[in-house]
Amino acid sequence: MTTATTKANQPATDSLRSRYAAALMPNYGLPPVALSHGSGCVLWDADGASYLDLIGGIAVSALGHAHPAVVAAVSAQAARLAHASNLYLHEGQVALAERLLGLVGADGRVFFANSGTEANEAAIKLVRRMQGPGRPVLVAARGGFHGRTLGSLALTGKDSIREPFGPFGLQVRFVPYGDAEALAAAAGPDCAAIVLEPWLGEGGVVPAPSGYLRAARAACDAVGALLVLDEIQSGIGRTGQWFAFQREGILPDILTVAKGLGGGLPIGACIGLGPAGTGFARGDHGSTFGGNPVACAAALAVLDTIERDGLLGNAARTGERLRSGIAGTGHALLAGVRGGALWQAIALTSPASAAVEEAARRVGFLVNAVQPDAIRLAPPLILSAEQADSFVAALPSILDAAVAGGMA
Ligand SMILES: *Cc1c(COP(=O)(O)O)cnc(C)c1O
Repeated sequence: MTTATTKANQPATDSLRSRYAAALMPNYGLPPVALSHGSGCVLWDADGASYLDLIGGIAVSALGHAHPAVVAAVSAQAARLAHASNLYLHEGQVALAERLLGLVGADGRVFFANSGTEANEAAIKLVRRMQGPGRPVLVAARGGFHGRTLGSLALTGKDSIREPFGPFGLQVRFVPYGDAEALAAAAGPDCAAIVLEPWLGEGGVVPAPSGYLRAARAACDAVGALLVLDEIQSGIGRTGQWFAFQREGILPDILTVAKGLGGGLPIGACIGLGPAGTGFARGDHGSTFGGNPVACAAALAVLDTIERDGLLGNAARTGERLRSGIAGTGHALLAGVRGGALWQAIALTSPASAAVEEAARRVGFLVNAVQPDAIRLAPPLILSAEQADSFVAALPSILDAAVAGGMA
């Protein structure tokens, strides 16, 4: 892996950035890199500079870029049938639903959406449908993230992105993340569901304390509320298991997945287990694109490849190598490392994450300043030991450069 690329002279990138600024809405700011193509864990920009991708398009590119299994599945499906609508069924969506239920290991039914937030919107409507108007309250966590559409946003526990868009048609009671007693206290008889991420993702890759999901399950059972687990970021192998909840030996009533599922193609799923599988009646919900044949083909290829190539094991092994390498790096800016498998946050001693992200990019590593004092790593599950080592080796000089840049 060569990272000694020059990122000083970037005419194609500069030109694309100014066209972007003039034609796209300013909601994302102006992205620093114009991507051209990728292969495995490596990405190239419009000026030919290469990067080791340690963020995977925000935990999406589970098999990296241009993986032959995804390319073959998508190409073959696009050449046969790209769209079916929900007026007709096609084999891929049936096979994918069966496959997901098999991975969860419980009886249920699946609704397919096109994104994470849509999977959560389906979950919210399903909760409403099952619990009725007598239980208006949803309990969610401060620091949690569930998406940008109005229902998911109402559940998102980050005031700065939620409050400008209220009021919402949902009554949400926020609790501190990881506090089992607060959860039980908030879940009264008016509570329809508790909605949680097994680890905070956008909140900075914060694993829940052990036992938290079991406590959430018990709090729901005590009052007849449903447990909704948002595994949109944590699912599909990110934590070294298919789903993060599986470590806690419980089952949710509703599970949402997206990001890594399609390996880069847009797909989300709302999985209802037990009675929640049949909570929707005919006509209750729908999506024109949901369960799209090309996206389903990609997702089946992703799940088959993770299994065939032992990528859950690789995520655990290579992730541990990466984690211990980072933890063993002594530097004044480094406070520690959170998370595990291929989902980690490098915690910083000062709010310098933007400078660290930029310094990493300059020497050919794409990482994400997920919080002012935390760098998120969510690389493809195919990351090799050598690639992990190359980042660990570069980390001290990246941190040095961030400190120097921050003082300039
Ligand atoms: C990314 C994310 C979402 C939203 O997914 P989109 O595909 O961006 O709509 C929801 N929940 C969690 C936990 C996420 O990480």
